[in-house]
Amino acid sequence: MKVHAIQTGQVRIKTAQVEGRGHQVRIKTAQVEGRGHGLSRRLAIFTDANWTGWLPTYAWAIETADGVVVVDTGQGAHLLESGKSLHPYVRWEVAFRIEPEQEIGPQLRALGIGARDVKRVVLTHLHMDHDGGLAHFPNSEILVAPGELRLASGTLGRIRGYLPQRWPSWFDPVPLHLAAEPFGPFASSRRLTETGDVIAVATPGHTADHISVVVQDGDTSFFLAGDTSYNEELMLAGKLDGVSEDERVAGATLDAIKRFAVSGPVVYLPTHDPQAADRLAGRRPVAA
Ligand SMILES: [Zn+2]
Repeated sequence: MKVHAIQTGQVRIKTAQVEGRGHQVRIKTAQVEGRGHGLSRRLAIFTDANWTGWLPTYAWAIETADGVVVVDTGQGAHLLESGKSLHPYVRWEVAFRIEPEQEIGPQLRALGIGARDVKRVVLTHLHMDHDGGLAHFPNSEILVAPGELRLASGTLGRIRGYLPQRWPSWFDPVPLHLAAEPFGPFASSRRLTETGDVIAVATPGHTADHISVVVQDGDTSFFLAGDTSYNEELMLAGKLDGVSEDERVAGATLDAIKRFAVSGPVVYLPTHDPQAADRLAGRRPVAA
């Protein structure tokens, strides 16, 4: 089993997105206040003047006995046109850097992996820096959680900040239904390979139907975390991001990951963690 980290350019976001801090923003309207801590935490992204440094955006390729499984497709060079977007988040709250040859397709080819070798593509969620490389996989089976696809589709999806208008015209993913079959502390799961060494698990929070992928290699598990947190420290500290809608659900997911991590050697690999590639190369597990 071999897992490749593929860096598809870089992204900068507001620090309030990385670590939620709703309590610093006071919104007087009773109606808004009634919706709680959550909304002010999420609005803080727009009032925050502080940007993170450039963070990597990783996608992952897993060489399995059943062929290559790709998890997330990273950024696409088309995101550089995001200044033209009408959506305030895309326009002002996020910035990308990527060259066309940094997209996932050319990088897989450099590893000797052609489009036809990729049997399956699994998306943790459909945010633009995860689905930006879909065009490179016209012949693969693409798996997306049905709830995530509903959220991201159509005009409402665009209002929510997704870019469904950028999906390839052929995009028609297979619904990734998770069974009510617990995998460790995760309530539902689904095997993605015959032998069951690659497993999708439910990690709701960052989006309501966000999934993560566990790769079991000997006694080590690689946890391809998507955006469950932006780095390992935030996961260990149980700190929520500025995006998650339901704080209770997102907190429970971080707690489940932490419990999973201390149950055995688990290498935690979030999409935007600057340490992720080194951690994978050194098989460096989360410190118990
Ligand atoms: Zn995301």
